[in-house]
Parts: sequence; C-alpha cells; structure tokens
Amino acid sequence: MGEVEPLGHWSRDCPLCGRDNRALAEGEFSTVGWILKTCERCAMVYVESGDARRPPPGREASRFTRLRLRFALRKDFPTLVEVWAKPGAVLDMACGDGTRWDELSPAFVPFGIEADAERAAMAHGRFAARGGTCLNASLFGGLTAFVDRTCTAVVMRSCLAREMDPLAVLREAHRVLQPGGVVLVKTPNFASLNRLALGRRWCGLRPYEHLNHFTPATLRKMAEKAGFRAHYGLTYTLPTSDSMYVVLKKEGGESRAPRSCGGGCC
Ligand SMILES: [Zn+2]
Repeated sequence: MGEVEPLGHWSRDCPLCGRDNRALAEGEFSTVGWILKTCERCAMVYVESGDARRPPPGREASRFTRLRLRFALRKDFPTLVEVWAKPGAVLDMACGDGTRWDELSPAFVPFGIEADAERAAMAHGRFAARGGTCLNASLFGGLTAFVDRTCTAVVMRSCLAREMDPLAVLREAHRVLQPGGVVLVKTPNFASLNRLALGRRWCGLRPYEHLNHFTPATLRKMAEKAGFRAHYGLTYTLPTSDSMYVVLKKEGGESRAPRSCGGGCC
C-alpha cells in the first residue's frame, strides 16, 4: 500500500521494522478510530490503524502555539538546496504551486510532484520556464516515473509523516538520486520538548494527517534501511522546535557538506 486512501478503515505493521504490534496496548495519544502504537522492537511511533470515515475533530492552534511558530527558527529550502546539493535537478515532493522555488539559484532545475491538479498545473508553469516539470500524481507514484540517478536533491517538506509506507518512499528517492545526492527532510519531531510538555495538545499530533511520528533516532534507522546516511546539523534538531531538519546523503560522488558541518555534528 503506497498512500492513504481515505475510504474507510485500514491498519498496518510497523513502517520501520515491519513488526505486527496489534497485540500491544494502544498509545496514550490515540483518539477514537485512530490508534497510535510505539513499536516494541524498534521504538517507532506510528498510527497503526485509522478510520477515515471518522476523522478527529479539527483543532485550531492555540494563541501560544501560533506565537511560538511565528518566532521559531526557520530554514528555507532554496538555501538548504544550495548548501547541500550539487547543481542539477531538484525534485520537490508535494511542491504545491511551486512558489517556494522562485528564489532558487539558476544552477538548479526544479521538478515537482503534486497530488492537487490545480496546484500541479501552476507549479508546472513555473518549473517548465526553467527546464523542469511538475507531475500531477501521488508522491510514491510520481517518484516511480523518474529514471535512476537523475536528481541531485529530493525535498520532503512535511510529507514523510503522512506516508503510509515511508520506507518505500525513501528507497525510491535513493534510486532517483545521483551518487552523493541528498534528501532534505523536514518533519515533526516526536522527541521535541514541546511534545513532552504539551502532550495531547501538541500541534504535531494530527492522527488523520500524521501517520508516522519520527524521532531523530527512528528517522536515522529508517534512512539507513533505505541506504542513506543521516546528517543532523547543529541547529537542525533543536529540542525547542516542533520540527526537525535532516539531510540524508546517498553514498558516492562528491560531498557537499557545508564547512561549518565539519563532520562533528553528523
Ligand atoms: Zn518497529
């Protein structure tokens, strides 16, 4: 199964190690119809089963959360691409209308995958002007359309947490990357202080959208299974932030880690 099909009830084994955890008690953050588990074997936190006919009620972010997000340390992806990737094709998973790449250096050609047809068409117009394209497809299905070793970077901004089979997506990304290519990931950090402090009120707990709750440790394990080495910059996993940034590097080719990285932070 590649993606969530919002048609009814579904369940799955651990997306990291494949263990069947149905016999385990459900986690404390479960809601009606949406069962969270912490895998007994690998500690991956994930939505084991859900019922799309019974989504949890929507919650508006609290005033405190909105204020905190406004002043959070943010990183923009065009800058991350220039820092970490060699010039070439950059593939953005769930690229929206593509506006986030308007400032991308001319050394890179933007490509995208977007499930929404209207936004995909807008992104395609932007990317085609620079030699790229945008596919209107599911993330996994779109990835399979790319031939081997064609991209220098794949961007996964807030999409890996939503995938039914994130390991399969990472393996496909590994296939389409050139040797030395990178996946730039932004995803909610289940080990963040905010999650520990806010508990059930944490903004990252959205079972209907977020099916995989990564920590730096479980994301590293999954990345290694897909063939990558995970790099965590000094400011990429701040415990005070709700999200973490991770650079997953494919072996081979020339390294383009920033000097400030120096290897000590990775
Ligand atoms: Zn597991």
